[in-house]
Amino acid sequence: MTTTVIRRGRLLGEDVVDLVLTDGLVAEMGADLVAPDGAPGADAGWSAADVTVIDASGMVVLPGLVDLHTHMREPGREDAETVLTGSRAAARGGFTCVHAMANTDPVADTAGVVEQVWRLGREGGFCDVQPVGAVTVGLGGQRLAELGAMADSAAGVRVFSDDGICVSDAVLMRRALEYVKAFDGVIAQHAQEPRLTEHAQMNEGPLSGELGLTGWPAVAEEAIVARDVLLAEHVGSRLHVCHVSTRGSVEIIRWAKSRGINVTAEVTPHHLLLTDELVRSYDPIYKVNPPLRSADDVQAVREALVDGTIDVVATDHAPHPMEDKECEWSAAAFGMLGLETALSVVQQTMIDPGLLTWAQVAERMSSRPAEIGRVTNQGRPIAPGEPANLVLVDAEATRTVESSDTASLSRNTPYAGLTVPGRVMATFLRGRATVLDGALQGAYV
Ligand SMILES: [Zn+2]
Repeated sequence: MTTTVIRRGRLLGEDVVDLVLTDGLVAEMGADLVAPDGAPGADAGWSAADVTVIDASGMVVLPGLVDLHTHMREPGREDAETVLTGSRAAARGGFTCVHAMANTDPVADTAGVVEQVWRLGREGGFCDVQPVGAVTVGLGGQRLAELGAMADSAAGVRVFSDDGICVSDAVLMRRALEYVKAFDGVIAQHAQEPRLTEHAQMNEGPLSGELGLTGWPAVAEEAIVARDVLLAEHVGSRLHVCHVSTRGSVEIIRWAKSRGINVTAEVTPHHLLLTDELVRSYDPIYKVNPPLRSADDVQAVREALVDGTIDVVATDHAPHPMEDKECEWSAAAFGMLGLETALSVVQQTMIDPGLLTWAQVAERMSSRPAEIGRVTNQGRPIAPGEPANLVLVDAEATRTVESSDTASLSRNTPYAGLTVPGRVMATFLRGRATVLDGALQGAYV
């Protein structure tokens, strides 16, 4: 049995503590438990013989991050990402659990496919991969998929989404919300009214007119959010709104929560930082769904993340091969990478300006997403007896993002060349390092 001791880390950015990890759990936690050479303190019941000591002086210790929205692309687009490469990118970003979206080929709409994705994640061993099940067969929007069979499978699916496509049929959406109540599931909606966004290329506003690109109106998102919170209220079920991007959506969700409607919401790092002004470059690296919005929308989603209207940050990590992004704007695929830069972008937009503390970020990127996804062994507090899923962050570090510096198979990061704060120095999954000294460790099962 190996023991790891983490010396003098700042727990949630505050108190300096030593942590002893044994047998996949946090065995002990306290001030000055461990001497600089790793020898145990007076109360420690473990032997110093088989101990790895990590000096975490000055580093922030967070619970392992949990993502509700990752595109792994396997099965079907293994040229863009696989469960293994996506898991490695996740570990480098400080994640110990990610939810893999269902828009693969074949679509994750049966127990067989979700079990395959779940098993690939466990075999890779870099982070837990929790499959999201499709709401409708083949994402076709015509009839419900086998939600119950996916829930009962080894993967234990609780989050269902046709993400990439909106469940636009109100009757189907109502039935899906009703159906998942039986097993405490949640419908995660990609809110995009299809008719209002036909051929849409960027946020609708003065700039879309100026650039001659078809506009994507905020109301196309807001109309679906408004309809769905009312449906969730009507059937008494749980709704999660993916990648909220507009002020209007925030206002509707705030209203819904004040009425006691069971709705949760996420925002992506890119919608916290980037605006539609970047589209002036016509560089498809900035093409994403939902589109980058105005500075006022960015302001609104930041405020909503602070006051809890938006519950969590989710990456919407969307890898694409070069040929699908390096082409003219209108032909390019929607989506950008996110796992390896999420925490830095959140530090830059929320922590460094004093909008959120590290403890609040831990809630929004670990405990709350685990709770929404009903993942019981992740997002736990850092305390003796709890699973040792941890991240060590050097919050004082800065780094310039390079598109080649990634574990993903794809290179479509919108942050290349940007200097961002913070660096994940270590990630532990059940007590074993997946990342150490900023580098990926060997795979294990
Ligand atoms: Zn989406």
